[in-house]
Amino acid sequence: MIVSLAPRVVGELREIAGAPHVLTAVEDLIAYGYDATWYEARPVAVVLPATTAEVAAVHRLATRERIALVPRAMGSGLSGGSVPLEGSLILAVPRMNRILEIDEVNRVAIVQSGVINAALQDAVESRGLFYPPDPSSLRQSAIGGNVAENAGGARCLKYGVTADYVVALEIVLPDGTIVRTGGKMLKNATGYDLRALYAGAEGTLGTITEITLRLLPKPRFTRTALAAFARIDDATATVRAVMASGLLPASIELMDRLTIRCVEENAPAGLPLGSDAVLLFAVDGNYEAIVDEELATIAEIASAHGATETRVAASAAESARLWEARRAVSPALARRTPNKLGEDVCVPLSEIGEMVRRIREIAQRYDLQIPVFGHAGDGNLHPNILCDRRNREEMVRVRAAAREIFEAAVALGGTLSGEHGIGLLKKQFIELDVGSAALGLMRRIKDAVDPLGIMNPGKIFPDPGGADAFDLP
Ligand SMILES: Cc1cc2nc3c(=O)[nH]c(=O)nc-3n(C[C@H](O)[C@H](O)[C@H](O)COP(=O)(O)OP(=O)(O)OC[C@H]3O[C@@H](n4cnc5c(N)ncnc54)[C@H](O)[C@@H]3O)c2cc1C
Repeated sequence: MIVSLAPRVVGELREIAGAPHVLTAVEDLIAYGYDATWYEARPVAVVLPATTAEVAAVHRLATRERIALVPRAMGSGLSGGSVPLEGSLILAVPRMNRILEIDEVNRVAIVQSGVINAALQDAVESRGLFYPPDPSSLRQSAIGGNVAENAGGARCLKYGVTADYVVALEIVLPDGTIVRTGGKMLKNATGYDLRALYAGAEGTLGTITEITLRLLPKPRFTRTALAAFARIDDATATVRAVMASGLLPASIELMDRLTIRCVEENAPAGLPLGSDAVLLFAVDGNYEAIVDEELATIAEIASAHGATETRVAASAAESARLWEARRAVSPALARRTPNKLGEDVCVPLSEIGEMVRRIREIAQRYDLQIPVFGHAGDGNLHPNILCDRRNREEMVRVRAAAREIFEAAVALGGTLSGEHGIGLLKKQFIELDVGSAALGLMRRIKDAVDPLGIMNPGKIFPDPGGADAFDLP
């Protein structure tokens, strides 16, 4: 394991990216050593290239010197993907933050991988266009990180996830070879789909430097409604009924009782505190009357399934406040206990009620607080286990509860991760989901693309003989 870089190598990095863009001071290494999970590690250095040529030169140097490389965008990940295991060099892309082109005819945007999601959304919306994938971290995450995790968000129910918008990529392979795949065309059946391979590869197969994203025309009207329920089962039954009705809202988000309480304690948004669950709906389209009618139908379905209150946001400001409250869930929960284990299971929609029931049963059995929220319309739930990592006895229960949540999701036909990826957090559980044959194929792909194993080592694939990934103190 490398614990520090030879001065000669640091000198070469400075030649590649410019001296101010190579960080070796302890305080910088600490700042680049974590993401939004509880993992922390210290990189040997941080390099911040500005161009694809600089990225390729860093890769060639890392290959020659056998230095592990961890691509990093904004470090907002929720699975430990950008945490540098000991001896890794962080290759951070925030300086690669230019929107290179917005092509209105072909309806694509070409961006460098460090462009912040919200900045892209603002830029395309000012031209009447629309980039739907909207992780709640849209102001804190970059498109490169979104592609590498195949990020989702509230609007992905109607519009699909990040991978559905990637039409071309520029990738630097571990050895520094630059590969361009795809183009501005919308259809492409030529050879293996390398874009799909890299969307969700979590930086283990190379560094993404440039991304071409499909855009849509911006819907002219969006309306929001909230429905409150005395029983969470009624909320999940409403989700199923809405989706079976033939309507396709842009978003259906769920927040349970404890989530609502944490959000209201953090920054009051007027969520109904007495309820067991709320659903937040967004409906969009180009015809106001139809949007209003669809929202009214959804409210009727919610009432028929036991909603105690339905409320249509009366103004854009009220709607913005409700969605801001939804985006504030994760930080609000983080304030309640010293730590939280944020999970990301996704089940077929038909099973969402059963998944929520099982999470509650697991929480009760292990005497843990596990608030549940998430993108209920597409079956993607975020049970967050609130905990204190210093409490060893509690962490034993947390670990057992997490495993049971994963097992329940898989048993219901679902998966460990809908959008956060595997990283460090779930790697010991991946085989439970994908099985040994698919895991073996993934390993062979990894070995073929990265024979020296220098790209983001220690992520996705389980450690042989590793008991779990929770890194108990
Ligand atoms: C409050 C909060 C809310 C969130 N809400 C959502 C949500 O709604 N939906 C969702 O999907 N996620 C959500 N996330 C998780 C996180 O924001 C996403 O996973 C996001 O896509 C990570 O982007 P990033 O720029 O921070 O990437 P990082 O954390 O820097 O990196 C993430 C992974 O991508 C790899 N990577 C980064 N850049 C590159 C590159 N250029 N080339 C190759 N690999 C690269 C890294 O190695 C790492 O494995 C949330 C996080 C927080 C803190």
